[in-house]
Amino acid sequence: MSVEAMNKFRKKLEISLEGINNNNMSELIIMKQAECECCGLKEECSEAYITQIETSYSGKWVCGLCSEAVKETMKRSPETAMKEAVSSHRDFCNKYNTTTRLNPKLSFTCDMREIAKRSCESRDSTKKNLASINSVR
Ligand SMILES: [Zn+2]
Repeated sequence: MSVEAMNKFRKKLEISLEGINNNNMSELIIMKQAECECCGLKEECSEAYITQIETSYSGKWVCGLCSEAVKETMKRSPETAMKEAVSSHRDFCNKYNTTTRLNPKLSFTCDMREIAKRSCESRDSTKKNLASINSVR
């Protein structure tokens, strides 16, 4: 390799390194804490991501799980406005938060009652249900 070629190569390398540095500068990520409009989950996200989500969900930030639920609502009834879909899921979450989350034991009892009810409906499945209850414990 001639000296000239070496210099050319070095120049090229410098330019590409400069490019990498510039990219790093422009990709300086600002992290912010976002709170889910529906379930109240707090998550550290980049500002750009928060803005992107808020734009898609009528100015509200929703977590990944809730956004899936909202998307499902929109799919089921496409005439629903995004705002309505978000607030209807928020209502659902509030209901969950005031029952299951506040009183998991009560909710567990309710679930057990549901299982007992179902096993009465079908005698064959009683043994199966009891087995699954035992395995949970
Ligand atoms: Zn959520």
